[in-house]
Amino acid sequence: MRSIPTRLTIFPLLVFLIITGCYTVPETGRSSFTLLPESQVRGMGVSSFEEIKSSAPLITSGRNYDMIQRVGQRIAKAAGNDVPNAEWEFIYIDEDQVNAFALPGGKIAIYDGMFDVIDSEDELAFIMGHEVAHVSARHSNQRLSQAMVLAGIGVGVGYAIDDLDTSEKQLILAAYGLGTTVGISLPYSRLHESEADHIGQLYMARAGYNPEVAPGVWKKMAEVSPNGTPGWLSTHPTHEDRSEALAESLPRAKEEYQKSRYVTGDR
Ligand SMILES: [Zn+2]
Repeated sequence: MRSIPTRLTIFPLLVFLIITGCYTVPETGRSSFTLLPESQVRGMGVSSFEEIKSSAPLITSGRNYDMIQRVGQRIAKAAGNDVPNAEWEFIYIDEDQVNAFALPGGKIAIYDGMFDVIDSEDELAFIMGHEVAHVSARHSNQRLSQAMVLAGIGVGVGYAIDDLDTSEKQLILAAYGLGTTVGISLPYSRLHESEADHIGQLYMARAGYNPEVAPGVWKKMAEVSPNGTPGWLSTHPTHEDRSEALAESLPRAKEEYQKSRYVTGDR
């Protein structure tokens, strides 16, 4: 008796998966697997960001703050149509950890501790390019989608996270990296980190920042945390691997840099 409804439901489910399950990452052209409507993921990002803003100690003036705003706007412009419907916001959190994060919807945070490592606006531009790239590549949606599949949560149910029971909802939020206490995303996978490095380097170059500094940023990060990794870097690729990959992708980024209207003066 049960086999009939099962067979009837599998076909529409497959069609659903095929239709919704594909997103082509900008700049790299990689096909990725996403189940949730991006509008829903964006909404989750925006509301989480509001929570973080209301509890985190924020710095809202000064040289570093101004630099974050300036770099953020230029990087966002360079990302352009890669992030439709973004409402960019760049906050500066007064905590002494080498950290930064991005949430869907165009919400970026830089921690004060980051300025112990970076020495120039170009280096900040690489960090922010990397964070913006996580947004444009929809890494949060991919991570959520994987978590849902692993948890066996019905695909169709994903449209209404509010309807899930508490443990399912917690699992989703944990995968999303938005536990109630921490509010910072979990480490991304090796693939996502490398992809964000690559795309971020292109964005910074397009925004008129010198992409030659990018490989060196990871070298400095390695010096800061020789035995471990600071929070936002606690991912699989080593600093050395990332540095090498960025050196390899430098020629293309340099082409973008030479064409940048900030560099040519054609603003
Ligand atoms: Zn990252």
